[in-house]
Amino acid sequence: MEKVAKDWETCKQAVSSGTSEDIANEQCSCELLLRFSLPCKHHLLQAAQTGQSLPVSLFHPRWRPNGPPITKSFTTWKLSYGISTEIAYDSRRASDITSSTLQARLAGDALTALAKARFESQLIKTNRALVDYAGQLAQDDLLPTRLPEKIQK
Ligand SMILES: [Zn+2]
Repeated sequence: MEKVAKDWETCKQAVSSGTSEDIANEQCSCELLLRFSLPCKHHLLQAAQTGQSLPVSLFHPRWRPNGPPITKSFTTWKLSYGISTEIAYDSRRASDITSSTLQARLAGDALTALAKARFESQLIKTNRALVDYAGQLAQDDLLPTRLPEKIQK
């Protein structure tokens, strides 16, 4: 997933510096796509250009928490920009995280102008804090739960 974030940054930079055509013209043979079924910069570019959020449909079902079990039908999986897929997927998920995320999104949508802008900047801050928190949790997981045994001489 870090690789996707890296390619995503590449796309955003390319869009802001006006070099996105270079990516669009490149032949795609990315390991990210071919080996991991994750969207590479060539497929992230559209979202970066339009400013839309990344549709869930860009990610292979195996990467989604609580995703559908991997069956034979997914061998023909292709990433796409189907917006309806995203909504269908979200409504199928019953996890608290998803519903609370959706609620937050809907609450924000109901706001207007300045209030909405404030809400969105808070949303970004909150999301960043969550990413940091996830990083901390990952670190904690790596710590040994007990000291190693003393080596006997
Ligand atoms: Zn590619």
